[in-house]
Parts: sequence; structure tokens; C-alpha cells
Amino acid sequence: MGCRQRFAVDLLVRITVDGHGDLVSGGSSQGRGVWLCEGSRPCLQAAMRSKAIGRGLRVQLTDEQERLFAGRLLDGMEHGGTASSPSTAVS
Ligand SMILES: [Zn+2]
Repeated sequence: MGCRQRFAVDLLVRITVDGHGDLVSGGSSQGRGVWLCEGSRPCLQAAMRSKAIGRGLRVQLTDEQERLFAGRLLDGMEHGGTASSPSTAVS
């Protein structure tokens, strides 16, 4: 978890890795997941800074991967959605 401010599950969004090694949010895939505060930019940034996502998921993430994912996640948040659509449109 990126921060320790909130623990209620309904305020968290689950981050997982899909079959392509891409980060997805709100996925229902089984296996390892990392929880972040939904809609919290500081929480996400803290998780990225401390490499908590890659560590929690046991994957090696490049800065580029994290940046792209953060952009998608925050974009979904700012559009009022829950960022629940795992995008497969990564080329
Ligand atoms: Zn948090």
C-alpha cells in the first residue's frame, strides 16, 4: 500500500499485473495485488517513489511502465470513473 492513511477496502483500488506484464487497476485477476487509495494522487506517487508496486507484485517495472500506468490511472480518476476498465490497448 502506498500510504497508511486509509484501510477501508471500498476506498481502495486493487492494482494487479495482467498476462502481458502490464499494470491494471480494478482487475479481478487472482494472484498478487497491491492496494492504493482510490483517487489519491499522493498515494500513487508515494507507491511509485518507494517502488512499492513492483515490490508488492514481485515484478520488475521500468520507470516508463510506472509512468504510463500512473497516467492511465489518474486519467480515469479525473474523469470520474473508477478506472475499472483494464486497457489492453498497449502496443
Ligand atoms: Zn493510500
